[in-house]
Amino acid sequence: MKIDQLARKTVRELTPYQSARRLGGSGDIWLNANESPFANEYNIKCDRLNRYSTCQPTELIDAYADYASVRPEQVLTSRGADEGIELLIRAFCEPNQDSILYCPPTYGMYAISAETFDVATKAVPLTEEWQLDLDAIHANLGGVKLVFVCSPNNPTGNLLNRQDIESLLDMTQGQALVVVDEAYIDFCPEATTANMLDQYPNLVVLRTLSKAFALAGLRCGFTLANAEVIELLLKVIAPYPVPVPVTDIAVQALSPAGRAKTKFQVLDISANRAYLQAGLGMLDGVTVYEGYGNYLLVKFPDADALFNALWDHGIILRRSPIENCIRISIGSRDECEKTLAFIREQLGQN
Ligand SMILES: *Cc1c(COP(=O)(O)O)cnc(C)c1O
Repeated sequence: MKIDQLARKTVRELTPYQSARRLGGSGDIWLNANESPFANEYNIKCDRLNRYSTCQPTELIDAYADYASVRPEQVLTSRGADEGIELLIRAFCEPNQDSILYCPPTYGMYAISAETFDVATKAVPLTEEWQLDLDAIHANLGGVKLVFVCSPNNPTGNLLNRQDIESLLDMTQGQALVVVDEAYIDFCPEATTANMLDQYPNLVVLRTLSKAFALAGLRCGFTLANAEVIELLLKVIAPYPVPVPVTDIAVQALSPAGRAKTKFQVLDISANRAYLQAGLGMLDGVTVYEGYGNYLLVKFPDADALFNALWDHGIILRRSPIENCIRISIGSRDECEKTLAFIREQLGQN
């Protein structure tokens, strides 16, 4: 028997997430994974690595609760927000029975995580304005345990209307959890839904240190929810999910000095985003969609040709499934300038 045939049927047939890293490429300018251009320095202590870590280190939970203005019992930390997605599916969805609902175009991991666990997926597309189609969601709620929405949405960059999220929470009360993915919320903190947790027992908010906090390589994320939900997730999480050095670094990033640095870097990236938005917006035939995260979705006359020309020139961006659209992560000012200059040249609009 071939090893392949020993694997679960679902796993044999699975197409893994096409992460920016897996797609490869070689270049000098990497604007394809919504990473921060800043590499900050941290101190790591190695004097207690002989001991297991705590499942949910108090100093980390307290620091994030303080940052997010929620109570510590409303916080769970995990290996990135991606693990939060997986824990929710494992804790709330019965395989081959329950479903998750998500609203494309959006982040790919909701569907992939569900498929991995034999949980069915229902895709209810966003409207033309990339907002929630509440009627269509309502019509498809049968058997749905988790509704994933993303705001700012990846890859479109827009925010979901707060009223629509409230309607969705009301509509699903007692039936399903609404998971609001706020991976990019630190770029527009006033738009958070975390302040609605006390009002809605079925609200879950996903957060991460990967984007604004410039710690994609650290793998540290958070799930914010009411204590009942957190207790259930703790039943399925691994016994030692947070490596000791991860806690050390995350606590430094969430200290007053770390938060001040992040705020400063967010301002810097936002200024670069405005620069790129204005520069690309001037070009004929180019549409730049308003973005609230550290990336912009941009429509070009021939996105494939442009994407490939950029790729060959060592500027690695991300092709979006939306017709003729490319997602551009906001890098340093120098990276934004070089990218804009090359695009202008390619479009013959110097
Ligand atoms: C990057 C991203 C994540 C994953 O964050 P990690 O904490 O790095 O796992 C989740 N959701 C969205 C929308 C993202 O863009």
